[in-house]
Amino acid sequence: MSKILVTGACGQLGSELTAELRNIYGAENVIASDIREPNEQIGDSPFEHLDVMNKARIEEVIEKYDVTIIYHLAALLSANAEQNINLAWKLNMDGLLNVLNVAKEKNVERIFWPSSIAVFGPDAQKEKTPQNTPTNPTTVYGITKVAGEQWCAYFYNKFGVDVRSIRYPGLIGYKSLPGGGTTDYAVDIYHKALAGETFSCFLTKDTALPMMYMNDAVKATIDLMQAPEENIKVRTSYNVSAISFTPEEIAGSIQKQIPEFEIEYTPDYRQEIASSWPDSIDDSSARSDWGWKHTYSLDKMTEDILEHLPKVIEKV
Ligand code: NAD
Repeated sequence: MSKILVTGACGQLGSELTAELRNIYGAENVIASDIREPNEQIGDSPFEHLDVMNKARIEEVIEKYDVTIIYHLAALLSANAEQNINLAWKLNMDGLLNVLNVAKEKNVERIFWPSSIAVFGPDAQKEKTPQNTPTNPTTVYGITKVAGEQWCAYFYNKFGVDVRSIRYPGLIGYKSLPGGGTTDYAVDIYHKALAGETFSCFLTKDTALPMMYMNDAVKATIDLMQAPEENIKVRTSYNVSAISFTPEEIAGSIQKQIPEFEIEYTPDYRQEIASSWPDSIDDSSARSDWGWKHTYSLDKMTEDILEHLPKVIEKV
C-alpha cells in the first residue's frame, strides 16, 4: 500500500482532504504533517511536526514511512501573503522546491500541489477565463503560484516527476476555519448568519468570484490524483470551476433559509485583490481530460452548511 504524506494538513483544506484520504486508503497509510499541533479532525493517526522549509526533515519523514505520494498544501494564503510578502515568497517557493527536489531524489511516485485562480491578474479574460491566457498576477500570492506552476511543469518535463495541480477557486467549508484568503468571507458569513448577527463583508456587494464547496474540492483533488498519467495533459495547473457568486447572491441564498439575516458592505484592502481576479473560470480541459464534474450549487451548499455547521459550533 502506498504511503501518503500531507503537508499543511491542519489547514482548511488539509483537515478535510486528510480525513477523506484516510477513509479511502486507511488511516495508517496517510501521514498528516504541519508546524501546528494536530486538530481534532487530524486526531491521533500518524502525525509529524514538519516544517516544509526544512528539506532534511522532509527527507527524514519520507524515509521513516516509505512515502510514495505527497499532497503538498503548506502555503501562505492571498490576504496574509500581501501582509508579509517576503515570508510568502520564501514559504510558497522554498517549500515547493524542497518537496519537488526530494521527490526527484527519493523516487516519490506522485505529487499534488495546489495553485489558485490568483494566478490571473487584470490582463486575463474576466468571464470564463480560459486555461491558457495571460496571467500577470498583481498579488505576491499570485506570483508565487505562477512561478510554482512553472516549476511543476519543469520538474515533470526535465526529471519525470509526476506532479499534478489544480487552480482552486475560493474554497468554502464549515469543518475548519479559513487561513487568511480573500474568499474567507464566504465562510465567515455562515457563522454570523447562525449567530443571528449582521455580517460585515470586506468586499462590495457585486464582486463576483469563482468558488467551490470543500466536498467538491476534495473530490477534484482525489479524482486528479487517481487519473491515469496519460490523461494528465496540463502540467502547469488545471482550471477547475464549480460556482461563481457575489456577496449579495450568497446573502440571498442564506436569506432563503434565515429570512432575517442581514449583510452590510465595508470593503477593505482585500477588495483590490478580489477585483484583480476572474469572475468565472472555463474548466473544459479538466472536464475532458480527467472527467471533472462538480456537484454543489450555491443553494445546495448553503443548505448543507446551515444543516451541519451548528453541530460543529456546539462542539467548540
Ligand atoms: P491554510 O492556511 O488553512 O493551511 C495552511 C497550513 O499550512 C496551515 O495549517 C499552516 O499551519 C501550515 N503551514 C504554514 N507554514 C508551514 C510550514 N513552514 N511548514 C509546514 N506547514 C506550514 O490554507 P488552505 O486553505 O488549507 O490552503 C491549502 C493550499 O490550497 C494552499 O497551497 C493554498 O494556496 C491552496 N489554495 C487554497 C484556497 C482556499 O480558498 N482555501 C484557494 C486556492 C488555493
